Amino acid sequence: MQFVIPAVLPAAVPVVGSDAMFPVHRIYCVGRNYVDHAIEMGGTGREPPFFFMKPADAVFPIAYGTVAELPYPEMTEDFQYELELVAAIGKTGKNIAAADAMQYVWGYAIGLDMTRRDVQTEAKSLRRPWDTGKAFEQSAPIGPIHPATAIGAPGNRAIQLRVNGHVKQSSTVDKLIWSLEEMIAYLSQYFTLQAGDLIMTGTPAGVSAVKKGDLMECKIEGLGELNVKIV
Ligand code: MN
Repeated sequence: MQFVIPAVLPAAVPVVGSDAMFPVHRIYCVGRNYVDHAIEMGGTGREPPFFFMKPADAVFPIAYGTVAELPYPEMTEDFQYELELVAAIGKTGKNIAAADAMQYVWGYAIGLDMTRRDVQTEAKSLRRPWDTGKAFEQSAPIGPIHPATAIGAPGNRAIQLRVNGHVKQSSTVDKLIWSLEEMIAYLSQYFTLQAGDLIMTGTPAGVSAVKKGDLMECKIEGLGELNVKIV
């Protein structure tokens, strides 16, 4: 196919143990999916899940074993981290039953849902969309994907984020309000889930702002580490 202007290459994330990349189609993010974080954001308990999206090119792919340098974005004075387990979808489907959902997961990664919290908070109060707060370039730092065939299901892995050595977020991924299976079933009623989609599964309590010079060290058991320095 020929294009009248140069076409943009698909966004992609590295894969552990492979030279081939995982091509990113869409990024679905769930809001308030840990009870403690739902409460810190002003919610109650298990409310129905809600989703927003980041565009594929919001991905900031981070290679294994490196410290990535993430530029502090424009237009915010409250740039916050949200550490999340990311599921990578490897098979296209619609109206997927929760019982079949795990067959659609190709792998897992550590991700950050970086947020211009001041901009998002203003959008919320004005009942406007969140795109300027959530969907900007490089707002989704993501580490290499570990194939599900190699590491198995998320189970009750520990998830932890430290800033400059201090523990800020610490939980286990079995504390998700809506499990990955339930999220896949729910999302696939509204959208055709495509091979290449990423699902950011929500963040535990302890979100706060970072500034230039801060080092975020993120861990999910079995998925290695994701280290990001704000520059
Ligand atoms: Mn989030």
